[in-house]
Amino acid sequence: RAKRARHLPYAVFEPAMHEGAVRQLRLEADLPGAVASGAIHLAYQPIVELASGRIRGFEALARWTHPVLGPVPPGEFIALAEELGLIVNLGLAVLRRACAWRAALPGGDCGIHVNVSPRQFLLDSFADDVRAVLEETGTPPGALHLEVTETTFVEDREGAARILGRLRDLGVRVHIDDFGTGHSSLGFLHRFPVDALKIDRSFVTGLGEDRASSGVVETVLALARTLGIETVAEGIETEAQRLHLLYLGGTLGQGYLFSRPLPEEAAREAWITSSARTACLIPGPGSGR
Ligand code: C2E
Ligand code: MG
Ligand code: MG
Ligand code: MG
Repeated sequence: RAKRARHLPYAVFEPAMHEGAVRQLRLEADLPGAVASGAIHLAYQPIVELASGRIRGFEALARWTHPVLGPVPPGEFIALAEELGLIVNLGLAVLRRACAWRAALPGGDCGIHVNVSPRQFLLDSFADDVRAVLEETGTPPGALHLEVTETTFVEDREGAARILGRLRDLGVRVHIDDFGTGHSSLGFLHRFPVDALKIDRSFVTGLGEDRASSGVVETVLALARTLGIETVAEGIETEAQRLHLLYLGGTLGQGYLFSRPLPEEAAREAWITSSARTACLIPGPGSGR
């Protein structure tokens, strides 16, 4: 219904639809300019070692503050960008900016995680685009972690397998985002050999609350161990959840307990502080940055 209103603006006389339709039209009109002008910026959320809190990398998350409507949730404008055919350009801009930001950090061993939409991932030129950005920004391929959801692999199995192969040849890492919410199975992971599974926030939230969630988390951790791949638990908000994950054998995580997504400069400072702390804790050759 709302969709219809978008293409038939004269139908917005129905009062209940009015506000939503006006917002839609406005976002639709302004998103292309925001993408083209670079008005979409990035926040960076630390990904940490659960045991020590040491930062291992950051997930880049797109942010858009509309001049009139204020902050627009990424769930909303990413979906709109997909619908309007802007996601490939937007995704590439995000990738370039995130890699450039990471390249300017001291140390050289920080990971950078970038979300990739199915449409973008499945484009035949994607691996070439990634290689170009790596070269342009001087990013070591192993530092780049691309996060894709299970739907990417379901939409076009052949294409996804081909592109995954090319990315792995490049040395880039691929994570399955929101793992556990889609169609994954053992066979699926055999067919699409990825580097890590991100355990969806819904299961982390349920830890200690319902038995099903702990069961899912335990199973995913065991699965990853069997496959010899990493896991990252999303949405850790409490110390109890952190301890529960550690107890089940989890190693990496992210969430408000450690840090919210941060503006560029604050994220950079968090990285420097974390690196310095590690250097003090583990003195030895190479620790003096
Ligand atoms: P995601 O990739 O699963 O990202 C994690 C989301 O969980 C982020 O929401 C993050 O802010 C939020 N989060 C992290 N820790 C916590 C926590 O402890 N509690 C709670 N309640 N939430 C937490 P955000 O930034 O709103 O992004 C939402 C989704 O939008 C992302 O989910 C991702 O799918 C998509 N997205 C964001 N940036 C991009 C982008 O550049 N490209 C694409 N294709 N998608 C993006
Ligand atoms: Mg993600
Ligand atoms: Mg996620
Ligand atoms: Mg998620």
